[in-house]
Amino acid sequence: MSDLTRREFLEATAAAGTLTRFRPKADATADATADATWFDRPMRWVQLTLVENDPGRFDPRFWLDYFARLHADAATLSAGGIVAYYPTEVPLHHRSAWLGDGDPFGALVQGCRALKMNVVARVDPHAARDDVKQAHPDWISVAPDGTPRRHWANRDLWVTCALGPYNFEFMDRVNREIVARYGVDGVFANRWAPQGGDCYCVHCQENFRRATGLALPHTVDPRDPGRRAFVQWRIARLTELWKHWDAGIRGVRAEARFIPNGPPDMKTAAELADIQFADFQARRGLTPPWANGRRAKEFRAVMGRKPVAGIFSVGLEEPYRWKDSVQAEPEIRLWVADATANGMRPWVTKFSGVLYDKRWLPMVERIYDWHYRHERYLRNERSLARVALLHSEQTDQFHPGIAEGDRHGDHVLGMYQALVEARVPFDLVHEALLTPDRLDQYKLLVLADAAALSTAQCEKIRQYVARGGSLVATFATSLFDEEGVRRSDFALGDVLGVSFAGRVEGPMHNSYLKLESDANGRRHPILAGLEDAPRIINGVFRLAVSDRGQTGVRLQSDPSLTPPLTLIPQYPDLPMEDVYPRVTHTDTPGVYLREIGPSRVVYFPWDIDRTFWDVLAEDHLKLLANAVAWARNEPSPVEIDGHGVLDVTMWRQRESMTVHLVNLTNPMMMKGPLREVFPIGPLTVRVRLAGGVKPRAVRLLTAATEPQWILSGGVLGVVVPSIDVHEVIAIDV
Ligand SMILES: [Zn+2]
Repeated sequence: MSDLTRREFLEATAAAGTLTRFRPKADATADATADATWFDRPMRWVQLTLVENDPGRFDPRFWLDYFARLHADAATLSAGGIVAYYPTEVPLHHRSAWLGDGDPFGALVQGCRALKMNVVARVDPHAARDDVKQAHPDWISVAPDGTPRRHWANRDLWVTCALGPYNFEFMDRVNREIVARYGVDGVFANRWAPQGGDCYCVHCQENFRRATGLALPHTVDPRDPGRRAFVQWRIARLTELWKHWDAGIRGVRAEARFIPNGPPDMKTAAELADIQFADFQARRGLTPPWANGRRAKEFRAVMGRKPVAGIFSVGLEEPYRWKDSVQAEPEIRLWVADATANGMRPWVTKFSGVLYDKRWLPMVERIYDWHYRHERYLRNERSLARVALLHSEQTDQFHPGIAEGDRHGDHVLGMYQALVEARVPFDLVHEALLTPDRLDQYKLLVLADAAALSTAQCEKIRQYVARGGSLVATFATSLFDEEGVRRSDFALGDVLGVSFAGRVEGPMHNSYLKLESDANGRRHPILAGLEDAPRIINGVFRLAVSDRGQTGVRLQSDPSLTPPLTLIPQYPDLPMEDVYPRVTHTDTPGVYLREIGPSRVVYFPWDIDRTFWDVLAEDHLKLLANAVAWARNEPSPVEIDGHGVLDVTMWRQRESMTVHLVNLTNPMMMKGPLREVFPIGPLTVRVRLAGGVKPRAVRLLTAATEPQWILSGGVLGVVVPSIDVHEVIAIDV
C-alpha cells in the first residue's frame, strides 16, 4: 500500500467507525467522481450486498480495508428496495429491523468516497411485505390464476409487479431519495424485470390491452402471435421504466445513472447505457469456462468501447443456491480470466457483511492485484479480431427450432466451441447493429443457424458481402423472418447460392458424408487434415436445398472440383446384419462454396455446429476450422503452435496491443469446478502487426518476464514458456 493509499484508508476506516449516525449531504462527493463521465474510470468493482441482520453485526472497517487491498475503484452497496439500510423516509420502504439509529449504507458510502471510489447504490425491488400488499394490493404480481404471487423462496414476502406503479412510482421515489441523500454515482437495480412468471395484475392487463388491443396471453409458445406481442411489449415497458428511473436519478444528480441488472434486450443497452454489468456469477452444470467470455462478447457487441464489468461470485452457483459457499481458487481464477481476456472488468460480489467462510479473500486479492498492476494493458480501445459471430436475440426468442430436438442455442454453442478450439480470435456482432462501421472491421461473419433475420438485416449482410466480406453460414440461416415466421425460401439464398426445397430431414441416424476429390485426386482445402478419411459422419438434421446455379459467380473455388462433400443417406443401424449403405454415392452436396470477388461464402445445409456441440466429433471441428480459414481468405492475426485448448483474444490499447491466452485445458473444462490447474507450454506465438508497427517492448504479464522476440515480415514471433491459467503478451507500440 502506498503512503497516500494508507492515509486515505486510515481516514476512511476512522470515518466508518464513528459514522453510524452519519448523514452525508448530496454534495459531499469525492473529487474522483466530479467528472460527468465517470463510467470509464473504475477498472475493478466490488459489491457488498447486506442481509437484513447485518446492521450492528458486520464491521464496515473490515470491508473498507479489503476494498483498499483489492485496489478496487468502485463499489456497489446495498441501499434499499426490499430492505432499506439507511433511515429512509419513503412510506412503506422497510427499514432493516436491525437498523436502530444507524446508517450502515451511509457509513460505507463515506468510507468508499474517502478511498476515492465511485459508488453505486444497489436496490432490489422484486419483493415486498404484507404492509405493502395491504396498502396497495395492486402493487403485487398476480399469477395466471388471478391470485397474488407469494415469493417462491421466502413465503413471508410477496413478489411485486415490475411493470406497474410499485416500480414506476414507489421505487422511483426510493431511487431519488438515495441519490439526493448520498450523492451516489448511480443506482443499480437487481431483479428489476418481472420475477416468478408473467404478471396478470390489473395494471398489466390494462397496459397491455391499451398498447396492443389484446388480452394477456396464457401461453409461452413463441409461435403464438399474442405471445410475440407480449414479449415485445414487456421489452418496451422495461425500456420505459429504465428511462423513467434514469430521468428521476439524473434529475437529482446529472452525472448519476440508472443501471439495470440485465437490459430488456441488448439493442436497448446499446441505445441507453453508458455502462453495463454482466451478472453471470459462476459456472453451473454443463458450462464451459468460455461462457463468461461469451457474455463479455455479447455486451461488447452492443457497448463498443463503453465499460462492461463482469459480476462474479466466489461461491457455487448451482440451483441449490449455497450463497455463503466458497469455490476452489482455480475455478474462480479461470472464470474471471476469461472475462478479462474478453474485455470485461472484474466485479466481485458477496452477500452478507458477516463472513462465515473467508477462504476466498486472498484468492480475489491475488486476482485484483494482478489486474491492478497491469491496468494499462487492460484498457482496451478496440478488438483486433477479424472474425465475428452473429448474436441473434430474435432467433433465440422467436425461433423454437426447425424440428423436435433442434435448438438455435446449440448451433451457437457448437460454433463457439469450434472457434475456441481453432484458436480464432473472434467477436460477436448483434443483429440490430449490422452497420458498415461495426461490420467492416471483420473479414468474416459467421451465421450459426441465424434463422430469424429480417429482410433489412439480410440486406445489410448482402451489402457486407458486396463490400468484400465473407460468410460461413449454417442450416436455417435466414429461412425465418424476425418474428420467427417461416419464409418459402432463404432470404439470403442468392448469397448462399441455394434455394430451400421445402423439406427438413432428420433426426437422421447413421448418415455420412463422402469426401470427394477431383479428376487429379486433389481435394478442396476445407478438407485439410482429413486426407486419409474416405467419409465422415453426417449431422442429425439437414435441409433439402437446391443449387441456384447462378451465373456470373463460381460455385466453387475450382470449377473442376466436384462438391467437396456429398451425402451418403442414412441406412439401418440395426440389426447388425442390415448395417450397410443402400446408396453409396450421391451428388447431393454437403457444403456449398462460392467466391465472389474477394468474398468467400460457405454454406452447410446441415447442423454441423449443433451436432458438434452434441457429440464433439473431431472431424466436424476440422471441417468448421477449415471453412473459417478458407472463407477468411487472409492470414489469421495470431497463430499459435503447441498443445492445449486456449481462448485467444487480441486487443489494441492506446500505446500497446495485447494477446490474451486463457488456458482452458482441464479435465473439468465442460463441468466444473476445477480443482487443479494444468499448465501448458511452451507455445510459439506469431502475432501479425498491421501497418508496419514496430514493437518497443514485449512483456509476458503473468510470467513477469520480457521474452526474446523476433520481427520478420511484420510478424512478431515469441515463445511463451508456460501458461497456468492466463497469460498476456503485451506489446508496447
Ligand atoms: Zn403487473
